Amino acid sequence: MVEAAEPVTYTVRFPSPVSHYAEVEATIPAAKQKALEVFLPVWTPGSYLIREYARNIENMRATDGNGRALGIQKTRKNRWLIEPVGVATSVRLQYRVYCREMTVRTNWVDENFALLNGAATFLSPLGDLHRPYQVTVELPHSWKLSISGLPELSPNHFEAPDYDTLVDSPILAGSPAVHEFVVDGKKHFLVNEGETALWDGARSARDTQKIVERNLKMWGSLPYQKYVFLNLIVDSGGGLEHKNSVCMMTGRYATRTRKAYLDWLDLVSHEYFHAWNVKRLRPVELGPFDYENENYTHNLWVAEGFTDYYAPLNLIRAGLSTETEYLMARPAGERDMSSLSGQIDALQNTPGRLTQPMEMASYDSWIKAYRPDENSGNTSISYYLKGGLVGWLLDAKIRRLTDGKKSLDDGMRLAFERYSGEHGYTSEQFQAVMSETAGQDLTSWFHKVLQTTDELDYTEATEWFGLEFKKAEPPKSDNRSKAWIGFVSKPLEGRLIVSQIPRGTPAEAAGLSVDDEILALDNWRVNVEGWAKRLEQYAPGDMVEVLVSRRDQVIRVPVKLGEEPSKKWQLQVNPQATDEQKLHLKVWLSGE
Ligand SMILES: [Zn+2]
Repeated sequence: MVEAAEPVTYTVRFPSPVSHYAEVEATIPAAKQKALEVFLPVWTPGSYLIREYARNIENMRATDGNGRALGIQKTRKNRWLIEPVGVATSVRLQYRVYCREMTVRTNWVDENFALLNGAATFLSPLGDLHRPYQVTVELPHSWKLSISGLPELSPNHFEAPDYDTLVDSPILAGSPAVHEFVVDGKKHFLVNEGETALWDGARSARDTQKIVERNLKMWGSLPYQKYVFLNLIVDSGGGLEHKNSVCMMTGRYATRTRKAYLDWLDLVSHEYFHAWNVKRLRPVELGPFDYENENYTHNLWVAEGFTDYYAPLNLIRAGLSTETEYLMARPAGERDMSSLSGQIDALQNTPGRLTQPMEMASYDSWIKAYRPDENSGNTSISYYLKGGLVGWLLDAKIRRLTDGKKSLDDGMRLAFERYSGEHGYTSEQFQAVMSETAGQDLTSWFHKVLQTTDELDYTEATEWFGLEFKKAEPPKSDNRSKAWIGFVSKPLEGRLIVSQIPRGTPAEAAGLSVDDEILALDNWRVNVEGWAKRLEQYAPGDMVEVLVSRRDQVIRVPVKLGEEPSKKWQLQVNPQATDEQKLHLKVWLSGE
């Protein structure tokens, strides 16, 4: 008989939450005589960056079962070796964790609430991580509850069957508003920490439920016992997916304007879709995780890109957005990533699409996507952005090849059926499922969109759905085309500073540089406010002299102005669309 492993147990206390500390006491079963080595992950799944959580650990003490102090030695940046424990059968570890980073993958503690992410909080013995882990949260008096995707043994007492689940289940403690609803017999909780009169709690819960119901319709069943939406209304942003929960951060006013609310719904829709895509249907490299090193995969374009394709699509399918909102970019001209036009426009205006193939964007996420700098737009492409559009093109391709009998939904369901268990998919396996769904070998198409930097071809999709790109004229001012220099700038203490030099712009051709301060145009002073208007005094093709301060040296840079590019990528329904095309569009957007 194999004895079930004894659990590692943790008690978390907040004796002085205003100081942003959590105090953890862990009891770790230890074999007699043997030294015990414990570790803390250096990253957390879903967020592909080494975060060095161990830097927030302090004041570690170890005692044996008799209260005798044990020596501790650091063996790596994130590992500690505890001296042989003699006859004791367990070791008690105490340590403090500094929690003051307000993101979805780090810890936060203040007088109102605590967000604890497992990877940043719970030290584990090295070796077999398949053992139970229990957490007891001792709440400060004024806090009401703690909640997590973990099974609850009793209030504030959680159990994870293994370390992966512990890391995958952030715990929120505080006094949040909890909105409960049931779909398919399963309990769901929208947990709004920081809900005030500014936030429409009832509406946010109702619409979250619609997103759940829409996914149930697509996938056929819900793959969990309960699901917790941790929604921290803290004027921060971001989301991190988990198997049975999600941690999201949002602004206080997000239910008060259509734009902000759509963004929030899009976040909910994206993160919840991950309960299938990536948390269960996953690239083979993403689990079991190596918590001490980077885990490389070529397939984040599926995990994130296809999730980004479905997030806004499921909103319109759930009746939460309109056809115009889904297809067309918002009028203000701002970058709008939740409409298809906005996404195409963003991709086609990112020079890095011609430099980095999408599979490499995924593989290098650790050093590029998660470490953006002023040159990122020139050298890399987002696997969210391009992946989402490839999802759309693949959807249209499957529909066309099967004469509308199959869609990407069928491909995703088949992939889920095959690869959501113990083993994830390889690139070849995922692509084979899609070829099978389409009834045609798509290998060469996948090669083109994944491994080359060839431009995406939208023709097949626009033709199938009866869409077209609006004819675009170059932007005009005073009845003539607008002059264009093409750098991106930012104001800094009232000064106009160049922040990016995109490839292919007049600014690049002229040799302007990031961090140049723009002082004057043709010997006349310019300022932050007047810069755009001043450019309008010129016509495309004009030669100008830009006076810049470059690391304090004043220099003159001649620039030949170009013509401001037109917005070429705005989709609209083709007025000549046939009834068949109109039907394709309707079927696609309704998800029926
Ligand atoms: Zn995501």
